[in-house]
Amino acid sequence: MNVKPKVLIVDDRVKNIIVLEEMLADLDIELMRASSGQEAIDKASKHEFAIVLMDVRMPGMDGFETVEIIRKDPLNELLPIIYITAFYNEDYYRVKGIKTGAVDFITKPIIPDILIGKVSVFMKLYKQRKNLEEEIVWRAQIEKDLKKAKDLAEDATRAKQKFLSTMSHEIRTPLNAIINTVNLLKEEEPREDQTESLDILKFSADNLLQIVNDILDYSKIGAGKIEFEKVEFEMRKLLTGVRQSFNFEAKRRKLEMEFNMDKSIPPVVVGDSIRLTQILINLVGNAVKFTEKGSITIEAKPVKRHNSQIDIEFRIIDTGIGIPKDKITFIFESFTQASSSTTRKYGGTGLGLAITQKLVELQGGELKVESEVGKGSIFSFSLPFLVSDKPFVEEDAMQKSSFHSLKGLRVLVVEDNLVNQKIVSKYLSKWEAMIEIAENGRIAVEMVKKNRYDLVLMDLHMPEMSGYEATLKIRALKEKYYKDLPIIALTASVFLEDREKIFEFGMTGFITKPFNPKELFWTISPFLKKRD
Ligand code: ADP
Repeated sequence: MNVKPKVLIVDDRVKNIIVLEEMLADLDIELMRASSGQEAIDKASKHEFAIVLMDVRMPGMDGFETVEIIRKDPLNELLPIIYITAFYNEDYYRVKGIKTGAVDFITKPIIPDILIGKVSVFMKLYKQRKNLEEEIVWRAQIEKDLKKAKDLAEDATRAKQKFLSTMSHEIRTPLNAIINTVNLLKEEEPREDQTESLDILKFSADNLLQIVNDILDYSKIGAGKIEFEKVEFEMRKLLTGVRQSFNFEAKRRKLEMEFNMDKSIPPVVVGDSIRLTQILINLVGNAVKFTEKGSITIEAKPVKRHNSQIDIEFRIIDTGIGIPKDKITFIFESFTQASSSTTRKYGGTGLGLAITQKLVELQGGELKVESEVGKGSIFSFSLPFLVSDKPFVEEDAMQKSSFHSLKGLRVLVVEDNLVNQKIVSKYLSKWEAMIEIAENGRIAVEMVKKNRYDLVLMDLHMPEMSGYEATLKIRALKEKYYKDLPIIALTASVFLEDREKIFEFGMTGFITKPFNPKELFWTISPFLKKRD
């Protein structure tokens, strides 16, 4: 602080003022004078004083009255005032002085050391207060800047989220159509040369979908929007499923697939089975991708058990190309691969491990890797699960029954996209359901009013009237039938908030596009049973 603290000396006698000034001459302060109460009030309203030395006995307005008026100015409410008086020992003065907010008294005759000591203390306090005030202003500014930066960052994240949500829809919709059409074509007994082309088409489309999903997942993790579910599932079934999904590829490349699950793992545990599958698929996928000969082993064993919690360690062991020591830390970074030739030779985006690592960490685990070039790699992690005492997960009765018929189920398909209309209709007619089609929400509402359906499959984004609005309109109709009518959303979005919105608008459930025929069947088949 460069400005010297100001001290006001108030006394009707100049001689007294001069004496005080001389005593305080060595302090690093600026002294100002007032020879009457009025002058003191004027000066106090114009300057900021660190302290006022106030004579009590003055003609006209005395010291006490002066201080009372000075104090009325909110800026001077706490201004430290020391009374200079010969009458300090008299109770009347003491009480009056304290009532007007004196911080101290100095009695005449003045002892210089006492005066200097007292004034110095107040100077110190004043300086401290000033520093604090400056710091508060500085901090407030920083807070303001931080808030501005945070708002900007949040805006940017929102814009990114919106962009990704749109992109997710825009890219996944045509991609769905490609994947589903290929699936249908493959079921229509193509020629051998066509089968090969269809396989390539399917492989590329699946790959592209995986990349889009990876990017979406990665951005969701970045935005802190990932949530983990707690569901009961059978560990053996999950691990077998993961292994099975690579059987074909492993066989094609003559790789052994081994599977080792410790018997002491409880049959049913509680955790996020979908994310665990995603983690394992990523790691086993890499193992298969980067192994030319030998084997891939998936291992699971318990490492810690505490009451109802169990930590299970998973190890994915391959005999593949391995990772150079100096590259090991980089492979977990996003968009990074161990060698620049990797993309050319093996494909991929370099996002898989970044996502996998985050998914493991966010659930309280750590992803580790040991690797030797030319020998192979071991990726391992352990995650906590809750132990369930059930021997197996009860399956829906319909799921156990065979995957064949929806005979007699009356379904209204609300979808504007012609390819999607065709795909859904083809599957539904294969399963012997009765289908009608509405091209948008408005037509759907009309049709629901005129006819009886067991189920509505509702696309969300459509011209004229969206699926959300159509659902609101249907639910607002009077009869109970309209409140109970199952409405299943068809959505390409993988965002949690979009899924929540589906339920907020009164829909019964959702199916994600591209349709997995089995998922489509299992989702709608329970409604056949309910109708009976
Ligand atoms: P992507 O597989 O899409 O390239 P990842 O993030 O899954 O991206 O992997 C990053 C890199 O780590 C890979 O490109 C590869 O160089 C290396 N890598 C991962 N897993 C293995 C493995 N099992 N064996 C050898 N290298 C691996």
